[in-house]
Amino acid sequence: MAPFCQTGNGACGNGQRLRILSVEVVEVTDLRKDGYDVVVVGGGAAGLSGALALARSRRTVLVVDAGSPRNVPAAGVHNLLAREGIPPVELLERGRAEVRGYGGQVMPGEVGAVTREKDGFAVALTDGRAVHARRLLVAAGAVDELPDIPGLRARWGRDVLHCPYCHGWEVRDQAVGVLATGPMSVHQALLFRQLSADVTYFAHTLPPGDEQTEELTARGVGIVHGEVASVEIDGDRLVGVRLRDGTVVGREALVVASRIVVRAGFLAGLGLRPAEHPAGIGQYIPADATGRTEVPGVWAAGNVTDPAAQVGAAAAAGTMAGAQINADLIAEETRQAVAARRDPFSAESESRLCEQAMGDRRHGI
Ligand SMILES: Cc1cc2nc3c(=O)[nH]c(=O)nc-3n(C[C@H](O)[C@H](O)[C@H](O)COP(=O)(O)OP(=O)(O)OC[C@H]3O[C@@H](n4cnc5c(N)ncnc54)[C@H](O)[C@@H]3O)c2cc1C
Repeated sequence: MAPFCQTGNGACGNGQRLRILSVEVVEVTDLRKDGYDVVVVGGGAAGLSGALALARSRRTVLVVDAGSPRNVPAAGVHNLLAREGIPPVELLERGRAEVRGYGGQVMPGEVGAVTREKDGFAVALTDGRAVHARRLLVAAGAVDELPDIPGLRARWGRDVLHCPYCHGWEVRDQAVGVLATGPMSVHQALLFRQLSADVTYFAHTLPPGDEQTEELTARGVGIVHGEVASVEIDGDRLVGVRLRDGTVVGREALVVASRIVVRAGFLAGLGLRPAEHPAGIGQYIPADATGRTEVPGVWAAGNVTDPAAQVGAAAAAGTMAGAQINADLIAEETRQAVAARRDPFSAESESRLCEQAMGDRRHGI
């Protein structure tokens, strides 16, 4: 067999006949003029999993993704079986390739507005393009709002953390601080105490009550009173927490409960608005266990509807929603087929007959 030229320029041979190996990256970005069975808004774990289920069910599916998954500052995705520690960007690259492998389209872009139209939705992108979708899967995720304390945002996902399951192991046995920001903060301190014996609770503007003080003290969590002014950084590492009175408490990681805000402004035209989450952690779009929202034809999956979902749970919800949407489309198509069978001269049956006879050759007269 002739050797392959690994460089692709044919220059690695020694007089032998070479076959040039070229890697062609084809990204399908031409939008279908007749629209899609499903448009998925957001190409994170939830959206890509939904798209995979749909593409494998031979549905035309378009994923529009603005490219800012929630966990992008983190070095790796943890607690994900068989892909433990994979960089978030690599996970999504693999997911996009898998969806494309079954004919799904994934393209960069931002959905600006969705409005109802005949047989589905008009999905308008912020760059001026628009597509029709019979069904919509909202998987646009959420953003984390942090307290307005200098230094926090720049360290987010690195040594300013929120989730013991995402990065607790990585800070085990370190000097960990927990910033009191809301109802979850004492719970967070107790969870991180499982990972380190050196946990300090910064009461900040939310001093713990008597019962909470007893719980923290009983578990060996130190309590520091006083408002936090900033985090101390040395080189590229968090080294402490500075209080308003100037005291610096040495810490290697700081746990902060963010307020979770969903990215759902584009749904306003459908009357679908986020609600406050009952756990007091931020917002969510209400949906049932299959992802079905209160707006017919619209499903939601991932952090947009479950702010606590980790990557595995977001992916599972996307798969569930994709399967449910496929089932919903099948039900609609079956109703239409039955109606056509009962009335062979209806406009619907004529249109179906025309489609079968002409396929792609049909025109708009
Ligand atoms: C710092 C940090 C670390 C984490 N670490 C872990 C971990 O180790 N393990 C783990 O399991 N979980 C982790 N998580 C949780 C994880 O980020 C979420 O579970 C996951 O991102 C949810 O997936 P999703 O698909 O719902 O949303 P996302 O991953 O946020 O994806 C949503 C996508 O939709 C796009 N989008 C938004 N609006 C629009 C629009 N209008 N048009 C088009 N696209 C749009 C966004 O740009 C984004 O690409 C972490 C979270 C944070 C904050």
